[in-house]
Amino acid sequence: MAVCPYCKTDQTKRKGDACPNCGGEVEIYKGFWFRSGLGSPTVAILERFEDLVSRRLGEGRQLKVSFSIPRKGLRYKRELVVAERLLVSAGYDFDLVLACLEILFTDKEFSWKARDTLLYIETDFNTALAIARAIRSKEEANRLIEQRALESILNQEDIFNQ
Ligand SMILES: [Zn+2]
Repeated sequence: MAVCPYCKTDQTKRKGDACPNCGGEVEIYKGFWFRSGLGSPTVAILERFEDLVSRRLGEGRQLKVSFSIPRKGLRYKRELVVAERLLVSAGYDFDLVLACLEILFTDKEFSWKARDTLLYIETDFNTALAIARAIRSKEEANRLIEQRALESILNQEDIFNQ
């Protein structure tokens, strides 16, 4: 069973290279589904992390800073190992990992202003994960309320048309 990254439904098998429900193209990584073209999810997580560090370093300096961890070397491999662990702790939900990273860099609760490595992220990540999951379930609840409101409007229109 895999969750489609687009429509969030549980799916067992791809149709062609796509989700049979919504038609979104997906790739499989360790049995889980990811958007096609993402490449390695752990590399993509690290790249997003580098973007966030770059953005933070450039803030207030009016400079375009490009932070990156050297691709050759032990550190890069270790960063990727942590990225993999973050992915596992988020249930292989790539978007949830990105949401957590965003929280770590923007939420006042966390002091990630001086961080440039994933190596000591896990305790804070776990806390951010609780917040990100709460945000998501609130969004889902809101979506459900909106959907019900819309349905009831549509039903009323049906009554008027009769
Ligand atoms: Zn889908």
